[in-house]
Amino acid sequence: MRFATSAASSLPSAASDAAAARAGLGQFEPAWTREDEEAVRAASAASVAVPEPRASSSSASEAPAAAPAPAPPPLLLSMSADELKALAVSHGESAYRGTQVFDSITKGAATIAEIRGIPPGWRAKLSEEGFDVGRAPVHSSALSADGTQKLLLRLHDGHVVEAVGIPSRDGARLTVCVSSQVGCPMRCSFCATGKGGYARNLTTAEIVGQVIAVRGAFERRAAAAKEEGAGGAPTSARRPIPTRVSNVVFMGMGEPALNLRAVLPALREINGRLGVGARRLTLSTVGVPNTIATRLAAENLQFTLAVSLHAPTQELREKLVPSAKAYPLDALLSDCQAYFEASGGRRVTFEYALLSGVNDSQAHAAQLARLLKRYDLRSHVNLIPFNPIGDLSPFAAPPRAAAAAFEAALTAAGVPASVRGSRGSDASAACGQLRNEHQRRGAALGPMPLEPVGLGAAAAGAGAAAAAALV
Ligand code: SF4
Repeated sequence: MRFATSAASSLPSAASDAAAARAGLGQFEPAWTREDEEAVRAASAASVAVPEPRASSSSASEAPAAAPAPAPPPLLLSMSADELKALAVSHGESAYRGTQVFDSITKGAATIAEIRGIPPGWRAKLSEEGFDVGRAPVHSSALSADGTQKLLLRLHDGHVVEAVGIPSRDGARLTVCVSSQVGCPMRCSFCATGKGGYARNLTTAEIVGQVIAVRGAFERRAAAAKEEGAGGAPTSARRPIPTRVSNVVFMGMGEPALNLRAVLPALREINGRLGVGARRLTLSTVGVPNTIATRLAAENLQFTLAVSLHAPTQELREKLVPSAKAYPLDALLSDCQAYFEASGGRRVTFEYALLSGVNDSQAHAAQLARLLKRYDLRSHVNLIPFNPIGDLSPFAAPPRAAAAAFEAALTAAGVPASVRGSRGSDASAACGQLRNEHQRRGAALGPMPLEPVGLGAAAAGAGAAAAAALV
């Protein structure tokens, strides 16, 4: 599929507006404009385009241009082990020193001062020459009573992104939910990130750095808990705090399929460098044309592909996921089928946010079962009861019984499904919510308080809930 190019095929029609009004959906339907489509197309192009080589030097008749400022050295986090060894040798050190830098940064060194074992002289030289590890500092952190911890990381250009650590209830596993973009151009109507605006794609190092940052936050908490225990404080009621990352899900801010140029290397780094099993990596997409059946199918990594459906019909999906206007449901599922076949039967899961009175009826369940049974995907549906995102959304979570009835209807129709619990509900867990709070507070107010903090917004959303599916 390609993005529709004509306004008629991509913009909301009068007929669909009328249908939305009939369904009571007009109040939250976001307009999907030609500008939105162009923004998404630009983000996608930025992800896949190979940079053009610089034009050769100016003609002889032109005045010589001023010498460009020297480019800053690469971030150490973005350099491979071989590149760091070569850097060490070029600075008169042994190649082993480069390995030390690589290992130290992988273990969590966030500054040159924190890199272990290297000679002071080389440490000083790296700093003098402008080298930097490239880790985004933690701007603020919210800790939930269930142990889920969300970090707001400040990037070098002042933007902030969210990363979440979700421990399993028994403390055996730690799932990290990462962002792939600053904001998101897809503007799904129920999503806090979509309401916060889109700024840019993240780099591979910025994505990998999120995993290291969350792991570090859990390591610090585990160490503090151990110290408390050693001091005689009661420990019986405490949950164990995992420090080894077992799963990574791309379910945070952004649409990863719009940033595959950074996301695919990040998947490999998280697998190879950070040691997270390939089958424990999940890429979640709402659907971007020309990615699922082509680029993702061609990847050899055995990650799980999760496709966010949220509606069983094209008409309803367009109300919830405005980009669906340019990528119809049938085309999306046909691409999933092609992905399944081209990848030798690699699993596709479907995410479905349950919105009370909008997409959670028995009729919707029957439509969803009929839709999925038209394809041979052997997939599973994760049902994620929506939770409020403050005053940003008119949506509500369905009653527990409605969610259970939806699951039962799918299962009875032969479509495996599970209702997933939300995690971090007292830590602004909805994807993008912490960033939105940060934006509302404004830079003048400075960072939000550091951990532990209960923000009291009762707002577990798709990200944390979907990630909890793996916990
Ligand atoms: S749900 Fe995902 S794709 Fe949709 S706006 Fe939010 S982050 Fe973007």
